[in-house]
Amino acid sequence: MLTDILESKKCFKLVCGAGNEDAVEVEKLVTLYSKAGCKFFDVSANAKIVDVAKKALKNSKITDAYLCVSVGIKGDPHVSKAYIDKEICTNCGKCIPICPQNAILKSEKDVFINKPPCIGCGKCAEICPVNSINMHSEPDDLNKILPPLIEKGIDCIEFHALSEDEDEILQKWSDINSMYSGLLSICVDRSRLGNIRLLKLIDKMLEIRAPYTTIIQADGAPMSGEKDDYKSTLQAVATAEIFQKHFENKMITPCYILISGGTNSKSLELAHLCDINVNGVAIGSYARKIVKEYVNREDFLYNDEIFSKALKVAKNLVDKIKIKNSLY
Ligand code: SF4
Repeated sequence: MLTDILESKKCFKLVCGAGNEDAVEVEKLVTLYSKAGCKFFDVSANAKIVDVAKKALKNSKITDAYLCVSVGIKGDPHVSKAYIDKEICTNCGKCIPICPQNAILKSEKDVFINKPPCIGCGKCAEICPVNSINMHSEPDDLNKILPPLIEKGIDCIEFHALSEDEDEILQKWSDINSMYSGLLSICVDRSRLGNIRLLKLIDKMLEIRAPYTTIIQADGAPMSGEKDDYKSTLQAVATAEIFQKHFENKMITPCYILISGGTNSKSLELAHLCDINVNGVAIGSYARKIVKEYVNREDFLYNDEIFSKALKVAKNLVDKIKIKNSLY
């Protein structure tokens, strides 16, 4: 069971990207990381993506892996996409190489965003010299998208709640709770609310949950974990520390803690050095980046030599996380 994996403190969750609707990439990532020993996958709450992730697990003959679908609130970067203002864009193309998802393309006419693979990281907007790129989130209606996914069979729903609108967060949380009785995950960071408001909000959200049916995903800096250093993962560990301290003093409803947002192969080592006890780590940007050169190949799933090289890299990361945490 997924809760056994969390209790073992060896949980490695591969984040394919809440906004990542590139079915080809998700199939490759789930195939690769499931063979590398990952048992928990976070994918977009999109029927096509859930189907392709299930297909990848079936083709890999992995029967003990679990799927989480991610939904978000308006404004949360995880469910945002980049939009180029054509009136302002000069088609310089500086944003093209910076995109980790190869989601920016150039035609003879203009530079444009290929929406499905865009994960809303905002790197293109940061580099644009004329500020022509903005991030927009138009989250789907949860009452429409979740029931068919629940019927298909999922193991967890993750709610990305990076917003200052506490009423909307609580309303959406209540909707998710009324639709789904399984494991839920709340992905939050400290940037919008600050520590005190964030903890109060989490307490309210946990009030309606049974013990050990919720994961708090302590996000450091969303989608920032491209480097394998301590600095990148510092904020994730710091966020987990706030929850750990809070729950030690006043555990309203016991829950699991994962770290995410800037996570890499050093995340657990840093957590342990700081005496932070977590149930595992969710890794997105870094886990995708280290295998990108292989996964980007069209023949990736059919070229044994290339797949084996990628598998070695992925397995090294998964093993590092699992072994480090089981020693703790
Ligand atoms: Fe989307 Fe990030 Fe690529 Fe911009 S850089 S198009 S936000 S994935």
